[in-house]
Amino acid sequence: MVYDKSDCHATSWSHPRCTLSLYLTVCVLSAATAATHAETRLIPDAPSRCEACAEWNKPQTPFRIFGNTYYVGTAQLSAILIRTKDGLILIDGALPQSAPLIDANIRALGFDTAEVKLIVTSHTHFDHVGGVAALQRATGAMVAASPSSAQALREGRPAQDDPQFASPDNRFPRVVDVTVIADGEALTMGDVAITPHFTPGHTPGGTTWTWRSCEQQRCLNIVYADSLNAVSAEGFLFTTRSGRSPLVDAFRRSIHTIETLPCDILLSPHSGFFGMADKLRRRAEGQSDAFVDATACRRYAAAASARLDQRIAREREMHKRGEAGETTRTRP
Ligand SMILES: [Zn+2]
Repeated sequence: MVYDKSDCHATSWSHPRCTLSLYLTVCVLSAATAATHAETRLIPDAPSRCEACAEWNKPQTPFRIFGNTYYVGTAQLSAILIRTKDGLILIDGALPQSAPLIDANIRALGFDTAEVKLIVTSHTHFDHVGGVAALQRATGAMVAASPSSAQALREGRPAQDDPQFASPDNRFPRVVDVTVIADGEALTMGDVAITPHFTPGHTPGGTTWTWRSCEQQRCLNIVYADSLNAVSAEGFLFTTRSGRSPLVDAFRRSIHTIETLPCDILLSPHSGFFGMADKLRRRAEGQSDAFVDATACRRYAAAASARLDQRIAREREMHKRGEAGETTRTRP
């Protein structure tokens, strides 16, 4: 895409905090991209190494989910593309080694990766934001995140109060330029508004995203629900011995948020969390609405609530026995 000054004016950011400086940032980034667009190539960062990384990062043929919303991630790590009149929005960047696959998937759908102007994220773990730095370098896109996630992105590691902060090998490439957003304040690009709902628990800065997508006269509510798994590094507890558990309270509020959002299509950071493979199979068999399920968010929240209850019960037992910590297998 060729950027010029008119592109800046066409980018109508109606975020209430869209100050002149934010507006200008978009213009400056666009101008910088214009200068180098002809040579723009995605240069990936060093790959993350983990037991499941190769499996997670297997290629996935990109596809349209509904209306303006497309899946451009890998087989197991989501990356969602939203087409707007004024450019593309990307949610999540998966692993560092996923960035070239995401770039290729965007192009395979007929879009230009250079048209990605906004990148947002679910939560700041290496398997969901590892590719963001390279994708921002390649596109000049604005990266926007909750205050805690913005700090983590800049530091290239989970927030210090993240339950998995102490897990080994959890760093990811630092994202230099991050704009902080507010809970519930929509970001508008062209004809699309995406709304962040802060859903802390799995991470302190975790964010669920919602938007509406239309095919002709039919418009559906899409929810990109963040991970809601109460897992941690060894020794971290969600509860306290006294029984007061602000982390658990916040977690329950997040679960309630996702439970009550208008939701016709559920997406989430791991494709297995929303049954993508099964839905694709059903769609191929002729069930054109396989991704539409008005109960999906409620069931996603109920499963998370049950897992949180199990975790709390285990911690209560540990408090009773006077154990200081436990070994928990890290789950994304
Ligand atoms: Zn995670």
